[in-house]
Amino acid sequence: MNPKKYSQKDHGIQRSNIDSDIDIVAETLIGNGYQAFLVGGCLRDMLLGKTPKDFDIVTEASPNEICSLFSNARIIGKRFKIVHVYVNEKKYFEVSTFRSDVKKHDKKKFKKVNGLIKRDNIYGTINQDAFRRDFTINSLYYDLDSGIIHDYVDGMNDIKNKKLRLIKKPSLSFQEDPVRMLRAIRFETKLGLKLTDDCRQTIKNMSHQINGISPYRLFDEVLKIMHSGHGVENYKKLREEKLFEHLFPFTHKILEDFSIYDDFFICALRNTDMRIKDGLHVNPSFIYAVFLWPYYKVLEDKYINNNSRSIDDVFRHIIESQSKYISIPDFFQNTIFSIWSLQSSFLNLSKRNIHYLTKLDKFRAAYDFFYIRSQINDEFKSYADKWYEIQKNVKSVKNKKNR
Ligand code: ATP
Ligand code: MG
Repeated sequence: MNPKKYSQKDHGIQRSNIDSDIDIVAETLIGNGYQAFLVGGCLRDMLLGKTPKDFDIVTEASPNEICSLFSNARIIGKRFKIVHVYVNEKKYFEVSTFRSDVKKHDKKKFKKVNGLIKRDNIYGTINQDAFRRDFTINSLYYDLDSGIIHDYVDGMNDIKNKKLRLIKKPSLSFQEDPVRMLRAIRFETKLGLKLTDDCRQTIKNMSHQINGISPYRLFDEVLKIMHSGHGVENYKKLREEKLFEHLFPFTHKILEDFSIYDDFFICALRNTDMRIKDGLHVNPSFIYAVFLWPYYKVLEDKYINNNSRSIDDVFRHIIESQSKYISIPDFFQNTIFSIWSLQSSFLNLSKRNIHYLTKLDKFRAAYDFFYIRSQINDEFKSYADKWYEIQKNVKSVKNKKNR
């Protein structure tokens, strides 16, 4: 199949918009007879007038061939093998090889289980590569040699019409990789695009398939959605599209009876969105502490308050049951535990307690959490006002670091 081609005058991307360090990589690949294209998010973002966060290259050279061309390159990944090519000690570009998802028999390189792609390392042509991607707008190729964009999937028209469209039939695409349902939501809000109706309807019908995805992968994907700067909007969409209930099933069940937590989530996400817009650090633990809080509160009532189980026990139970859906790394678990276990201390305004709390490493995160709780619960308002004054005097270096 021949692609539609768009020259610089049609697509409008200036070479000066592209990170000039790309040339080091592009020239080596092209000079050795390989094609090299910019692909994916970087090209899509530039075409939509946004600044790309990184530049990814795709080529016909295999990972081993790429490595042999650069002195500082290494292969990473198993599900997708890609090469990191370093242009200096700290900076690298991701270079991947054209892939194909047409049925192959080499189980070592390509593996589908119940329609789900588990391994995808069959290399192919640019044409095949274009059709194994998710959305049309993510499947455009900017030839680094000629500056021409190659479009196999009518993605340029979708960019023009602000349409988010899957390349394959939605049911097939989501069966192959249910994470695409989360990506659909993230791109829709982040890029201000409109998802096609059939795609939206299919998400609702297939949302339960998100549980076929590894809980480790879901941790990253959920974080990307919540830390995109559009957390409020994304959360609402996750609920509407019936994805939230499969990501946080315990929380979801509680939400049905206690809708106040919906306000709590929105308040927390609004706060996170603002922090991201202001360029402040956001700790991944925080948002998980927020989403699992209703679950903790219910179990606190049931077990901790009558001393039938310890707080550690309850905490372990929550993490274990949630981890079947989304796996939370140990490092973040500790912060979640600190945030929750410190909450009652904010009701104690004695000098001694203030001194103790403000010295703690997790004070900032725990305070922010308490503040959000106070926004939806009048009981805590007067305490939160006092802590607001107190925390002003806690060093700002710490502020940035801890949350
Ligand atoms: P972001 O701005 O979030 O980085 P992106 O589109 O660049 O968006 P990446 O995860 O960096 O997302 O992936 C790079 C490209 O790889 C995508 O643009 C898309 O073409 C392809 N891709 C990524 N994930 C999938 C997937 N789950 N299924 C099919 N293609 C995918
Ligand atoms: Mg990207």
